[in-house]
Amino acid sequence: MKKNRKKPKNAISKLLNIALLSIGIYIGEKYSIVDAKELIYNFQEINYMNENLDVILNEIEDATGIDTDDNPNLLPLYGTLKNEKLDESEKSLIYSLDELIKDNPYMDKNLSYLSMRELDIEYKERPNNIDDIIVGLYSLKNNRIDIYNTKEKVESEIVIHEIIHSLFHNGKTALLPSYIEEGVTELLTNEYFASNPFLESTTYPFEIATIRIMCEMVGEEKVLKAYTTGNMAEIDMDLARKMGVADTTVFMIDLKEIFDELEQGHPIDSIKKQRILSYLDTFFAAKLKNTNDTNQADIYFYNRDILDMMDKKDDFSNYWLYTQEHGYYTKAYFSKKLKAEYPYIEKRNIDGTVNTQDNYQYTYSY
Ligand SMILES: [Zn+2]
Repeated sequence: MKKNRKKPKNAISKLLNIALLSIGIYIGEKYSIVDAKELIYNFQEINYMNENLDVILNEIEDATGIDTDDNPNLLPLYGTLKNEKLDESEKSLIYSLDELIKDNPYMDKNLSYLSMRELDIEYKERPNNIDDIIVGLYSLKNNRIDIYNTKEKVESEIVIHEIIHSLFHNGKTALLPSYIEEGVTELLTNEYFASNPFLESTTYPFEIATIRIMCEMVGEEKVLKAYTTGNMAEIDMDLARKMGVADTTVFMIDLKEIFDELEQGHPIDSIKKQRILSYLDTFFAAKLKNTNDTNQADIYFYNRDILDMMDKKDDFSNYWLYTQEHGYYTKAYFSKKLKAEYPYIEKRNIDGTVNTQDNYQYTYSY
């Protein structure tokens, strides 16, 4: 079961145009008449939305039964309510993401509203030019999810993953590196929707391991903020302060590039990968020496080993064997509800039982 690994990175979509135009108006760019009309239309609509948020939130509550807690972030659910292309079962998948939306203070609710109002989902045969590992694809250009399966047979998790892309993907976030885009999207899918929120069982184990390591390095808030706003500067600066600008710049470029290689099906450059691992080892050696946090050490080495398995495209068998042997950690990064449900981080076996006899052997000293 594989999800989208391809996305039109440079596509200029209607939505992207709206996003860029709304930024553009402040810097005095000129638009065609058609664009200007659309812009005015959307500004009027957005103004109306924001002036009537109380009424709108009540309407969402009445229609969906969701307790909105007067949270203005939930505006995208109103877009879903007004969407004329989706049916009720598709809409209910979006409504089920209410906690995810509430937990994210960085989202642009207006752009997400427009996205949800116009989102379309199509179920179709996979075109010849699409790799057969791809089961779902979100197109920013068309704000449309293509599912290469029937509506009856597709797993909801795949649709949810693509819906999360549509919620957060816009003109500001279009240029994020793929490990952030896919890693955070999939980790959010897992934490808010999957039957096992802690174990990546499908497509993105390497991206998820990277995101978890990054959360341990700079804190999950900075990672979520970068994913949502498209601005990586806080992560870059935090790492540069601890590790130096030069090494951090190389690290960030290496990381972006090895995931580009993975995504394009090219062999991973082992020099870049080793350089990444050695940067991480240096970082955590310093960090763990100060804190002596054995739990964080466990989590780091667990995810480091997964990252180290990233050698060739879609080689998931080693990862799968690794999870059979080592299980997983019950650590949530983004879901407040999960964090409350699992206040203690435990190592669990693949069958869900607690791993009391940890057989994990560190091969590194720090
Ligand atoms: Zn994706």
